[in-house]
Amino acid sequence: MLATQDVQPRTPGAEAGEELEQLLHQVDLLLIRASRVAARFAATDEYDKWGYASPIDWIRFNCHQTSTAAADLIAVGESLERVPESTQAVSSGEIGFAHLKAVARTARAVGSKFDEALLLAKARENSPGKFYYLCNHYRHSADRKGYEAEQADLVENRKLWISTGEDGAVWINGVFDPVGGASIRTALEPLVRRSGKHDDRCREKRMADALVDLSLHALDSGLIPQQGSQRTHLQVTASLETLLGLPGAPAADMEFSSMPVSSKTVERLACDASVTRIILDSRSVVIDVGRAKRTISGPARKALNVRDRGCTWPGCERPASWASGHHIRHWIHGGTNEPPNLTLLCYRHHWMVHEGNWQIVRADDGRMLTIPPMVTFGAVARGPD
Ligand SMILES: [Zn+2]
Ligand SMILES: [Zn+2]
Repeated sequence: MLATQDVQPRTPGAEAGEELEQLLHQVDLLLIRASRVAARFAATDEYDKWGYASPIDWIRFNCHQTSTAAADLIAVGESLERVPESTQAVSSGEIGFAHLKAVARTARAVGSKFDEALLLAKARENSPGKFYYLCNHYRHSADRKGYEAEQADLVENRKLWISTGEDGAVWINGVFDPVGGASIRTALEPLVRRSGKHDDRCREKRMADALVDLSLHALDSGLIPQQGSQRTHLQVTASLETLLGLPGAPAADMEFSSMPVSSKTVERLACDASVTRIILDSRSVVIDVGRAKRTISGPARKALNVRDRGCTWPGCERPASWASGHHIRHWIHGGTNEPPNLTLLCYRHHWMVHEGNWQIVRADDGRMLTIPPMVTFGAVARGPD
């Protein structure tokens, strides 16, 4: 018994950890060798003979690398002579190739003002991610004008692509400068937080929901610059049959959407028409719901804001300015615009009671209760979130 206490058996985890450290150190050493060869390759016009636009392109295709990885290899290889102490530190396992990459990139960026000893001391103390950040601070202090020009360039090169797939799904892709990107994240992050302990949406889903919420809020609050005398609204054209969800009714059309919009969505958009103009085109009579008395606006909305203060979904904390007025019994089915028939719901929970088939009802004591969609065979109802 004494013996087993004295000699700790090596756990499988500890063994794997040790092996991983040794393997990745070998990878780092190989990467230094590869970078040296990459720089030698880049100094020739071999890529041109093969019909590639640059050495980076040649490495990208023939060595199965991303363009960033290829560019890093060349940049490190070309700078090795300027960073001998850091290269030695990788060999002895004090720092990694990721550190060396940042040192080499910094040496190239700041030119003659480069101070390797100072950076290497920081590399030894910090993770590669933190060290990369510190290198950028160093670049700013050593070469403020160069750093500013680089940042200005990133602002000039901001881009956002919005494209539509064949199924109508919209793809968004973009690149931003650090400050512009930080502004977007600062605006989105509070909206990305979970709306309660049952909120099981993954972070990516919450990010996407947050961007839609931000857009709806901007439209709802009239923050988007006017076009002529009109406030900017979502614009939907639907027939009365569509809004009623009658069998055989066509779908609705929406501006900027390549796909027809379902009855359920029209029902939600018409529920609180304060953000939407719905034009009912039935029996040649065009009714602009946006101007009809069915919207929850003016004093009725103010009273609703005071009473509910925000989304009334149990556990949700979105404030009134981020919520829509919901008719518990839809006006299209005879529901009134009186307070007992109205409640505030945030954009997502409003979606859940219309398209998501949840129900929200007011109990006798005034509390709001949610009822999950009808459970069908094999399907499990999710808890309210
Ligand atoms: Zn509604
Ligand atoms: Zn809510």
